[in-house]
Amino acid sequence: MYGKMQPYLARELESIRVAGLYKNERIIVTPQGVDIRLDSGKEVLNFCANNYLGLSSHPAIVKAAHESLDSRGFGMSSVRFICGTQDIHKELEARIAQFFDTEDTILYAACFDANGGVFEPLLAEEDAIISDSLNHASIIDGVRLCKAVRYRYANADMADLEARLKEAQKHRFRLVVTDAVFSMDGNVAPMDQICQLAEKYDAMVMIDECHSAGVVGATGRGVTELFNVRGRVDIITGTLGKALGGGIGGFITGRKEIIQILRQRSRPYLFSNSIPPSVAGAGIAAFDLLEASTELHDNLVENTGYFMTGMQQLGFDIKPSQSAIVAVMLYDASLSQQFAERLLQEGIYVVGFYYPVVPKEQARIRVQLSAAHTRAHLDRALAAFAKIGRDLKVIK
Ligand SMILES: *Cc1c(COP(=O)(O)O)cnc(C)c1O
Repeated sequence: MYGKMQPYLARELESIRVAGLYKNERIIVTPQGVDIRLDSGKEVLNFCANNYLGLSSHPAIVKAAHESLDSRGFGMSSVRFICGTQDIHKELEARIAQFFDTEDTILYAACFDANGGVFEPLLAEEDAIISDSLNHASIIDGVRLCKAVRYRYANADMADLEARLKEAQKHRFRLVVTDAVFSMDGNVAPMDQICQLAEKYDAMVMIDECHSAGVVGATGRGVTELFNVRGRVDIITGTLGKALGGGIGGFITGRKEIIQILRQRSRPYLFSNSIPPSVAGAGIAAFDLLEASTELHDNLVENTGYFMTGMQQLGFDIKPSQSAIVAVMLYDASLSQQFAERLLQEGIYVVGFYYPVVPKEQARIRVQLSAAHTRAHLDRALAAFAKIGRDLKVIK
C-alpha cells in the first residue's frame, strides 16, 4: 500500500517547498540560552526562544533536576493514577496553585495535552464554548474533541464577544476561552472586560497563560494579575515549557471540582505518562526562584522596554505589546525572510513569519526578549536591525 502513498507524500512535500513553506530546523550544539552556537560553528544571540526568564539552562534549575534525578530516579513508567505520582508531583501542583492563587492543579505532559483534555470532560452537546479567533492550535483541537457548540469571536473584540454571548444564552453552560498573550502580536486579552461580560451573561472563563506566566503582571503571575481578576477566572492552563524552566510539562489550575473531574475523566491525563521526577523537581525550583525575588521578571520588563524604545527610535513599525514579544512589522513576506537571514549573518537569531502563520501582507519579524539578555546583547541586536533596516530601505 505504501507504494501508492509514497509518491503522494513526495508531491505534497514538493508543493510545500515550492510554496516556500518548508520548515527547516536549525541545529544548536550548546545548551539553550541567549548565547548559543549552531552546528555550522556560528555563534549567535538568541532572540526567538520562549526562554523569557533565562531559566532554560539556569544553574538552580539544572541543579534541582540533577537532585531529583538522584533522589527520585529517571522515569515514572506509569500514568498518575496507577503508580505515577510522587511527593514532588503533588508538591509541584500545590506550588502552581499557590502561584496563581487557585484552589487546585493538575499536571499534564504538555499544555497541548492540557488544552486537548480540558473541554470534553466538562461540556456536552447542550453547552457552548466561545473562543477567540486567534487562540492556540491546542485550544482549537481541544474544542474539536468536545461536543459543545462552538462560537468564535474576532481577536480581543469585546463587542463581538458580547454578541456571541447573547447568541449562546440558550445553552446550559457557557465557557469563554482565550489565550492570555497572542503570540504573533504580543497583545494581551482584555481580561477585565472578558470577566465583566462573562459575569453579565453567566459564562465561565478559561485562559491559557503559556506566554504570560512569569512574564505579564507586576510580579509575573500572568494576565489575572495584570487585570486584577484573580478569583474571577475558573480555569487557567499553562506550560512549564516556556518561562517556567523551558523543559516540558503542562498544567491546569483553578476551581477544585473542575480539577477533580479532570483527574477522573481527562483522557491525556488518564492515558499518558507522568512527567519525569527531574522535570517536577526543576519545576518546583522555578517557582522557588520566582517567589524569592522579582529580579528576573524586573530584568525582563526592563529589557523589553529598552528594546522596544530603541526600535521605535530607529523608526521601525512595532506592534503595541504588553508581553515580551515584539512584532517588527515588515508586511512583505520575502522581505521578512531576507531580513531574518541578514540578521543571522550578523549573529542575531530571529524568525520572520508570514502567511499563513500571520494574515496576508502582515509579514513580520518576531523578537522575544529574555531576562538573561544583557544591555550589550540588546545593543548588538539594535545595531544589527539598524544596519539591515537601512540596507533594505525599511528605515531611513
Ligand atoms: C506553547 C503553547 C502551548 C503548548 O504548550 P506545550 O506545553 O509546549 O505543549 C499551548 N498554548 C499556548 C498559548 C502556547 O503558547
